[in-house]
Amino acid sequence: MPTTISIRRGLDLKIAGRPASKILEAPRPARTAVQPDDLRYFRPRLLVKEGDAVKAGTPLLEDKDDPRIVLVSPAGGTVASVHRGERRKILEVIIELAGEETFEEHGALDDDALQGLTREALTERLLKGGFWPLLRQRPFACVANPDTPPKAILVCATPQDDFDTDPDIVLRGQEKDFQSGLDLLAKLTDGTVFLGIGKNAQCPALTDAKGVETRRFAGPYPAGDPAVQIYYACPPKSGETVWYIRAQDLLALARFVKTGRYSTERVIALGGPAVKERQLFKTRVGASIESITDGRLEEGELRVVSGSVLSGRKVPRTGFVGLYDTAVFVLREGRERELLSFFMPGLNKYTTTNTYLGSFLGKSEYALDTNLRGSLRNFTQSGIYESVCPVDIWPEQTAKAVLAGDIEEMEQHGILDCVECGLCTFVCPSKIEVGSILRDGIDLIRKEG
Ligand code: SF4
Repeated sequence: MPTTISIRRGLDLKIAGRPASKILEAPRPARTAVQPDDLRYFRPRLLVKEGDAVKAGTPLLEDKDDPRIVLVSPAGGTVASVHRGERRKILEVIIELAGEETFEEHGALDDDALQGLTREALTERLLKGGFWPLLRQRPFACVANPDTPPKAILVCATPQDDFDTDPDIVLRGQEKDFQSGLDLLAKLTDGTVFLGIGKNAQCPALTDAKGVETRRFAGPYPAGDPAVQIYYACPPKSGETVWYIRAQDLLALARFVKTGRYSTERVIALGGPAVKERQLFKTRVGASIESITDGRLEEGELRVVSGSVLSGRKVPRTGFVGLYDTAVFVLREGRERELLSFFMPGLNKYTTTNTYLGSFLGKSEYALDTNLRGSLRNFTQSGIYESVCPVDIWPEQTAKAVLAGDIEEMEQHGILDCVECGLCTFVCPSKIEVGSILRDGIDLIRKEG
């Protein structure tokens, strides 16, 4: 019987728009993209130019600090454009799909060859194939360092939130490939491979997994987050690292190692209050948002988020799903200002502080929009951040240490345990981007080494 870890702190996100669990086939996207910002601390060097023909798996970008870390094309076709931002920063490399795709070939491996793979050979294969970035490490949530084996590896097989794809559904019928992935991970660490699954998970790929220590996780958001699961199952001590990978990424990694070909498949959940058809869609890595959302959204000005509701990234409707993301969430932009809103009973308003009467009516879901319903104010000491923060840090004091640039104090407050769930920002009565402040602090510590 696997141990169940119940995480008490967090927040039940009473947001409307959960996707149904049936997987539908999405139309083949005309374009896909890689976005270097998906990889934290990755400094991209472009390896292709517009108009180049590429295969699925052709390297498009390499890390200036470690050229072994590459981002490869998720499709065969042509480099349609390289989208740049301020100071010519590379934001997207967009690939126009060919009618018939070709693949970079790294050679297939049979079961014996897979078993005989050494750690070094496996690392080399993953680096060359562009699958290494799917392994990330705590602290810092950056790409795993191929030169330093971790204390443990955690496979996160839970949805990030109620709007995410549930691996318990996606992994049905994929038992063999998933187990191969777990076996491969065991080669990369002298420690334990942990498997984090939901408290009600039933898929045999998860419940019958071998060679791992399984932990069932229960609790409100963000209990499904790999960083939270590491914090409770196998926290790294100072100087140690723990690697992690999400279930669909492990499936793709295992298929690549077996077949020697880039694995393009990805199931994405489309949900949120502004979505008419909330479903899971089988599509491909880096798919265009349009290929998933076309004809399925409500009218009006909408915000699209790739990834988790509270910690995902805002993307334009012409944008692309992020490398690690398995969900697209859409809500209405709320720009209107309500007259004397503070004095209204707020029967339909979401609140985490019982500010509105709606909280006493026991409503289970709210069709949230992006309206903050208030403006920036000073920090108020209320203990609200600590009441939802899933780890043992003091968000308010830590944020103040970040604003003062005091690295020692940030570390004393445990900033590196922050899982960047965004809850402190979500509940902040002063409308302060507390989570972003903490993220700046983490980046500063990384920079200062
Ligand atoms: S401090 Fe970090 S872990 Fe805690 S609520 Fe804020 S973002 Fe989440």
